[in-house]
Amino acid sequence: MTRETRDRVWDAVPLRAAEQDGERPAGEGHPLDLSHLDAATEAQVVARLLSRDFDAWSEAASRVGHCAKPIRLHGSSQTVDTATGEVLSSFSSSDSPLGVLHVRCGNRRAADCPSCSRVYAADTFHLIRAGVVGGKGVPAQVSESPMVFATLTAPSFGPVHGTRNGRRCRPYRAKDDADRCVHGRSTVCHATHTDGDPLLGQPLCGDCYDYPSHLVWQWWAPELWRRFTITLRRALARMLGIGPHRLAKIATIEFAKVAEYQLRGLVHFHALVRVDGNTSDEGSRAPAPAGITAALLSSAIETAAASVWFDAPPLFGGDLARRLRFGSQVDARPVRDAHRTDDPEQQLEAEQVAGYLAKYATKSAADSTDTASPHLHRLRATLAETVARQQLEVAATDQALAEHPYALLGKWAHMLGFRGHFSSKSRRYSVTLGRLRRARVRFQRRLAAAKVDGRTLEARDLEDLLEDEDTETTLVVGHWTYAGSGWDTDGDAELAKAAAARAREYAQERAAQRTEEVQLREAD
Ligand SMILES: [Zn+2]
Ligand SMILES: [Zn+2]
Ligand SMILES: [Zn+2]
Repeated sequence: MTRETRDRVWDAVPLRAAEQDGERPAGEGHPLDLSHLDAATEAQVVARLLSRDFDAWSEAASRVGHCAKPIRLHGSSQTVDTATGEVLSSFSSSDSPLGVLHVRCGNRRAADCPSCSRVYAADTFHLIRAGVVGGKGVPAQVSESPMVFATLTAPSFGPVHGTRNGRRCRPYRAKDDADRCVHGRSTVCHATHTDGDPLLGQPLCGDCYDYPSHLVWQWWAPELWRRFTITLRRALARMLGIGPHRLAKIATIEFAKVAEYQLRGLVHFHALVRVDGNTSDEGSRAPAPAGITAALLSSAIETAAASVWFDAPPLFGGDLARRLRFGSQVDARPVRDAHRTDDPEQQLEAEQVAGYLAKYATKSAADSTDTASPHLHRLRATLAETVARQQLEVAATDQALAEHPYALLGKWAHMLGFRGHFSSKSRRYSVTLGRLRRARVRFQRRLAAAKVDGRTLEARDLEDLLEDEDTETTLVVGHWTYAGSGWDTDGDAELAKAAAARAREYAQERAAQRTEEVQLREAD
C-alpha cells in the first residue's frame, strides 16, 4: 500500500522539467496539471502532498473518484443478510483515518465536478443507448422501432452574429429592414466568424434585441415541449388517418431529450423520438405498426413543432401577452438502419446520437455561456429588473407572490431563466438513472467483498447487477449525519480535480490504444 501511495505522490508531482524542455510529459507518468493555481492554493497542494495523512486522504479521494466537492458524513452502517439477519460487515466513519466518510457530490455539471459529471454523462449515455438498441433491461425489440433525432430551436428575438457553417454572417439585410436600425447600427455583417469569436451570439443591435420576449420564451420552453409531445401524437394519428385514441391503442411514442444552451443564451431541445408497438399485459412489446416509418415520424415531428404554440401571460402589469412558438429551424432525421457517415444529410448512427445527447446533458448555463458576454449580461439585467418589478407589484396588490406566473424566475437566474430538466425521458424510453446508480453501488459492494475474500470478480458475478432489485439478499442499515460539503482546502479540491483530469486523459489514451490495436488486427 505504502509503495503504491508513494508512486502516486511521485506521479502527482508535475514534471516541470519535461515541460520546460518542450517535451510532452511521458505517457506513463501522467503528471498532474497544477500550473493554473495561485500561490496560496499551490502551497496548500504541496502541504497536502507532504502531509502525514496523505495516504488516508489519497485513499478517500480515489474512493470517491476524485470528486471535487464530496459530501462528508458522520455515522455508521451495517450490512445485514436479509434471510438470516446475520450482520455481514459493519463500517463506522470514526474508524476511517480521516474520521469522516466521503460520498460523491453527484453533480451533473462539468464546471462543478469533472469526475461526477463524467459518471453522469456515462450513465446518461448508457440510458440513451439502451433506448436505441436495447439492453440493460430494455427489450431488444426497441432496436426495430422507427427512431428520429430531432432538434427544436428557439425563435429569433433579433439578429445575432453566428458562424453559419463558414459562410458570411449576415451579408444581406432582411426584406423589410433598412441598412441601419433606429439606433443607427448596421443590420448586416460581412464577417465570417469562427469558433471562439467573442461576437458569436451577440445581437447586431442590443437595443433592438427583444430581451423580455427571450426571457418569457425560455421560461415557458418546458411547457412548449410538453405541448409538442401531445401535438406530435395528434399529428401522427392524423397522418395515419386514425383518431388519437386508436393510435394510443396500437403504438406509443417514447423519447429522451436534453436541453443545450446556445451562445445567444437560449436553449435548444435535442430529442430521440421512438415509436413502439404497444406493450401487452405480459410486458412484451409488439413491433411498431408497419405504417409508421421513420420518414413519417420525421414529418409528423416537423408538423407538430411548426404548429405548437402557447399564450404566455404578461411579465407584469402593462406588459404584453405573447404567443410563443418554436423556431422555424426544426431538424428531424431518421436514425434507424444507419451507418457511420460524414455526410450530415445521411442517417445518424445510434451510438453517435447517444453520445451527443449525453454530452449536452452535462453542460450548464455556466459551462456553455460566457459570463463576460455583454449580451448575457444584459439578459441577466433584464431578468433582475423583471423580478424587482414583480416584487413591487405583488407588494402593492396584496397578491401572493406564489400565485404570480413568474414567481420563481429569480431562482432560475443562474440558468438564464430555464427551469426545465436538462435531460429527461418518457417513462418507458429506457432504464432509469437511479437503477444504473443502484447497480453501481451493488458492483462496488461485490468488488469490496471479493477483495476481502482474496478473489477476483468474474463475469457471472456481475450478470444480475441490473436484475430486479427485489432479489437483493443483503440490506444496508445505517445512520448518517451530514457533516458538510467539499474538501478541507482549495488545494485539496484542485488536487482532486487534477487527479480526475489525469484519470480521464489516461482512460482516453487507453481507449485510443485499444481502437488502434483493433484496427491493426483488422488490417492483418
Ligand atoms: Zn463530485
Ligand atoms: Zn457577424
Ligand atoms: Zn437597434
